[in-house]
Amino acid sequence: MLKLKDVSKFYYNKGIITAGFTKVSVDFKLGEFVVITGESGSGKSTLLNVLSGTDSYEEGEMYINGVETSHYTEAEFEDYRKKYIGNIFQNFNLVNSYSVYQNVELVLLINGYTKKDIKEKINNILKEVDLYRFRRTKVSKLSGGQKQRVAIARALAKETPIIIADEPTGNLDSRSAKSVLEILHKISKDKLVIIVTHNYDQVEEYATRKIKMHDGRIIEDKVLVKTKQDIVPEASKYANITFLSKLRIGLRNTFNIIPKFLLTFLVYFFMVAALLSEYSSFKKADYESGKMGYNGYFQNTDDRRIVLQKNDKSYFTDEDYEKIKSLSNIDYIVKDDLLLDNAISFVNEETNLYLYGTAKDINRFTGSVDVGRTPQNENEIIIAGFKEDYYISQMADQILESNLQLQNMMRGEYVGSYRIVGIKYEDINQYAFYCSDAVLQVVKDMADDYYSSIEFTLSGKKYKSEKWNTYMQIVANVNIPKGEAYVSADITYLCSNYSCRNKVISMTNSNIYYEQSNEVKITKSYNKNNFNSLTGLKKYDEHNGKIFVNPDDYEALFNKNYFQSSVFVKDVKEIYNTEKKLQDLNIKTLLIKDTLANWDEGVSQVLRIMQVVVTIVLIIVMFFISYFIIKIILKSRNIYFTTIRILGASKKVSKQLLDIELLTVSNLAYIIVIGFLLLVHYNIVNLSYIKDLMTYISIRDYILIYIILILMTELISSKFAKSIFKKSAMKTFNEEV
Ligand code: ADP
Ligand code: MG
Repeated sequence: MLKLKDVSKFYYNKGIITAGFTKVSVDFKLGEFVVITGESGSGKSTLLNVLSGTDSYEEGEMYINGVETSHYTEAEFEDYRKKYIGNIFQNFNLVNSYSVYQNVELVLLINGYTKKDIKEKINNILKEVDLYRFRRTKVSKLSGGQKQRVAIARALAKETPIIIADEPTGNLDSRSAKSVLEILHKISKDKLVIIVTHNYDQVEEYATRKIKMHDGRIIEDKVLVKTKQDIVPEASKYANITFLSKLRIGLRNTFNIIPKFLLTFLVYFFMVAALLSEYSSFKKADYESGKMGYNGYFQNTDDRRIVLQKNDKSYFTDEDYEKIKSLSNIDYIVKDDLLLDNAISFVNEETNLYLYGTAKDINRFTGSVDVGRTPQNENEIIIAGFKEDYYISQMADQILESNLQLQNMMRGEYVGSYRIVGIKYEDINQYAFYCSDAVLQVVKDMADDYYSSIEFTLSGKKYKSEKWNTYMQIVANVNIPKGEAYVSADITYLCSNYSCRNKVISMTNSNIYYEQSNEVKITKSYNKNNFNSLTGLKKYDEHNGKIFVNPDDYEALFNKNYFQSSVFVKDVKEIYNTEKKLQDLNIKTLLIKDTLANWDEGVSQVLRIMQVVVTIVLIIVMFFISYFIIKIILKSRNIYFTTIRILGASKKVSKQLLDIELLTVSNLAYIIVIGFLLLVHYNIVNLSYIKDLMTYISIRDYILIYIILILMTELISSKFAKSIFKKSAMKTFNEEV
């Protein structure tokens, strides 16, 4: 059934041609027990490889059941191997980490049998080779003879008509060798058994035919016992491996070598952790830089906000507000837009408490406070902030019910004393102070002051009222009667004849929207002695030089109309439609949302690109480190994958088994990392640094990182699969052994 006619096998190695064997003609029949002998290097193994279809031949003809095979493709030889050949090797080629049963089972699962169909069959075979009681023992714990019997059991399980054994007793003591040979002899009745041995004496009693090789040629071919002729062999049946079997083997491989599993797991664990921390740090830096550049312009960065000015630069009338309000997507209008962007600070010098944020209208406050109480009078305030914020979460006792000074940051003065009575948790990156109308008015006055520049004329000369210089600074003071001004005795030289009494000060406020003037008459001059009684203020030295006027006169410099307002939309997705409708009302618009994205394109874009590049480089470096570690771990599995290849697994199946193995580990690592993060999130594990980073990543980011992980796993497995299939199976065996 297996016939060679003048077949030669050559090896080409760096230009040198060596002959494996030359012009071999031989014909094997079912029922034979063929023993091939010959000194080392005479071509025995090469002959067996050609007969098994694992190696090609260069010359001559090989017939399988009378069919010539020189035109056979790789796939056809594979089919031949699966149907006809069972191999037994000198070094067993078993999966050491599997049990005896699992080793035999493996070949059947790979060839499409299902687990429950083969249990009885495997047990019977194990009884036949006298290993039934060791069926649950790991192969690594067996003796050489026992191992070889497992290999025989594995070859038998496939029920192939041909068993090819290359020096099966080479590594065995004589007693084990004898039992192995006896089993081989026992099964040779209806099969063709071809074995190679150094020690002919050992096999003599079983052999039906002896072949001796020398220098690549058959020099002796002697039939010792006549066997029946012309039995048609029954090919072994096989199918594609089932999905369930793949899953079973893949999972078995994942966990059966614990150190390997732990090592791979650790690599993946650190990979996920590093990816997540790198990514969240990137997002944090991105967020911080965006916030930083942005604060200079707008404090309120709500993406639902649109800033409005009229095209003709005039102020908004009630009619304008009515029209704006009637648009569909408008949630509410903040007429005095300055309030939104004007940062204020509350200070308690005794406790060193300093709170910085924006003022909000208490009428916009909804719901109830989370800590403390609701305000009872107009000097009481609610503070809103991020729940995890240090002051909000840890210092609530200090903040609540303590007297705080509202500071005019420009002038460095305190302009009123207020009390924070309630805390509200809000997801905002800056504190918000919900204030009464009275407090808002104070804030508004500060903002007006800040955005305006006041000039005045005295005795025909123009002066500028500087905000940070007390000298000739115009300020409001309730002690001054309307229409009057008190000036320092030190500045009387500015007035003609050194007398300022009854001189008129003409004040003008100009800003980007309007110009407004008012006049007051100087009625008194103050000095160190009368300063306190005239102004009600204490520190003369700090104030000397100021020009004090009545608050009404001061405020008359400021137009009470609104030149810039903001609207907040209900649905941010519709914001561009709303913007268009506003523009149709002759209004100039500015979307906060868009300014956020490109506030300062030059610098921020470069910084951002650098951050992205650094992050990507780190991810790539991490990938290669992981890849090389996993490759080293997998290298120990070369033999395994070569073995399953010999047992009939295709490249695709081998890769799928590896996929299952790596995906199981990587998913497990991912789940454990996420589980750990959940523990941190729910404060079961207290790690504030990690918790802080976590606030910057969303579900979408977790999914993205998961996808990166899976892609990396896939890349690793396909690269590894490629590398193990580059070499032929036999070559890998020869090199590894
Ligand atoms: P045996 O099994 O009888 O000891 P082999 O079949 O292994 O002998 O080797 C036969 C001849 O082929 C030897 O000369 C050996 O050097 C050569 N040979 C075997 N395998 C290779 C190979 N992969 N590349 C080159 N030469 C080889
Ligand atoms: Mg050999």
